[in-house]
Amino acid sequence: MPYFHSVQFLPTHCRACGSVALAIRSTQNQAAAPCGCGGTAFVVPGPSFAEHEVALFDWLVKVARYAQLRPAEAQRVCLEIETGLARADQPGTYARLTERFPSLAELRPQLAESPARMARALRMLETILNALAIPAKSLSLSTAPVPHRREA
Ligand SMILES: [Zn+2]
Repeated sequence: MPYFHSVQFLPTHCRACGSVALAIRSTQNQAAAPCGCGGTAFVVPGPSFAEHEVALFDWLVKVARYAQLRPAEAQRVCLEIETGLARADQPGTYARLTERFPSLAELRPQLAESPARMARALRMLETILNALAIPAKSLSLSTAPVPHRREA
């Protein structure tokens, strides 16, 4: 089968403005991309996406943001998705997530027929929540701060 080079999009998170977006992959080991705010958006762990998935990604970012989860909650939901996918329980996982993100109900009819597409959407949401769980700005230090200790 011939190999077609298609455009790939990488999930990124900008610590300056907190936006989560897809950036066109330009190099093999790309770590960052310019953000619309003028800052730098860093590539977050997760799969790369195709052009036809960009609209869904942007929509899921809005859905995830609307829920205003705290980072710890976002991480818990990521784990829930991970566990659900490991058990191949897409419908059950999707139903539980719909309780927390009611807008997901709008997307369900498009995914219900295909476990693979549902898994892909769940993976996408997991990637977004993972990125949203990254604190803004405060993590711009390259090393963890040493706890301040008072002299006794
Ligand atoms: Zn930005």
